[in-house]
Amino acid sequence: MFDAILIDKSEEGQSVSLVKLSPEQLPEGDVLVDVAYSTLNYKDALAITGRSPIVRSFPMVPGIDYSGVVAESAHPDYKPGDRVVLNGWGVGEKHWGGLAGQARARGEWLVPLPETIGLRQAMAIGTAGYTAMLSVMALERHGVTPDKGEIAVTGAAGGVGSVATALLAAAGYDVAAVTGRPEEADYLRSLGARSIVSRGELTEKGRPLAKERWAGAVDVAGGTVLANVLASIRHRGVVAACGLAAGMDLPTTVAPFILRGVTLVGIDSVMCPRPERLEAWRRLSEGLDLKKLDAITTEVALGDVIATAPTLLEGRVRGRIVVPVNPG
Ligand code: NAP
Repeated sequence: MFDAILIDKSEEGQSVSLVKLSPEQLPEGDVLVDVAYSTLNYKDALAITGRSPIVRSFPMVPGIDYSGVVAESAHPDYKPGDRVVLNGWGVGEKHWGGLAGQARARGEWLVPLPETIGLRQAMAIGTAGYTAMLSVMALERHGVTPDKGEIAVTGAAGGVGSVATALLAAAGYDVAAVTGRPEEADYLRSLGARSIVSRGELTEKGRPLAKERWAGAVDVAGGTVLANVLASIRHRGVVAACGLAAGMDLPTTVAPFILRGVTLVGIDSVMCPRPERLEAWRRLSEGLDLKKLDAITTEVALGDVIATAPTLLEGRVRGRIVVPVNPG
């Protein structure tokens, strides 16, 4: 038996509790993983609090990512003892996730963990950090090099934002960290941010085109924040849009696209094709100062995850939350 968070739904509504499960209760899959670490991502917090319909079938073990060691495998690519990481594929939404002592998955969903990344570090990075890497790769793919100018990162003190700031700074970009928490300025500078921008500058509906400011952006906010970021992107600049912390809507115009040739790139970590995932994890193993992860990370015990979820949605958590499940 092992501990797990379980979300259930009845006529009275959604309930969530810490329960004991046995391996026989786990869903189908050809690889059984002893989960070492999981995390609490924004999406997990939405699922646990029930604030958005993230969970598609009940009961559900949440946890969209985990790192761990293969316990049993019928998949040709994996054998017991292999260190693996999993992000997305509907895990924690449609298929039981990582906030449990064990998880069963399809082998093709797993990524072998690069040797230089520890199991805890893998989840300090987590889906947020892997998404940050996908965003940086998207900027690069569209020709945004460090000499093009400053890059804005919104929600900079959050999970995606913290890792994006550290990755971009390490790659030689000047990062403008956009935050609603001025008290996190020193933290953001320690990650490599060159300047700090108050989120308040981007929350009021602005003009279709504003002063050209940034060569690119990684945006976790969506909504009016993203609209204002787009209006402030320099000619031929690129924005990687990966989140909706400010809202699902996008009250923009076509002006940035047709008058400044701005590109808006969507980032989807969940169904991202396997070669791009492998590349992202390889790049994370090389391009991220793993020592910085300690500053980014807070640990929350599995038993405290349910109580912590609302604070994450209120934007009060700095960086990443790691959940030690079987830290070994
Ligand atoms: P997080 O740790 O909670 O960070 C979100 C940050 O956004 C907050 O820390 C805050 O940073 C900022 N923020 C909060 N409320 C805001 C508002 N009303 N307007 C503007 N900014 C606001 O969450 P995360 O794990 O980094 O995820 C960030 C977003 O990316 C979420 O929407 C998540 O669903 C999305 N995401 C998408 C993918 C994908 O595949 N596309 C993958 C992972 C995450 P400051 O205090 O610094 O402003």
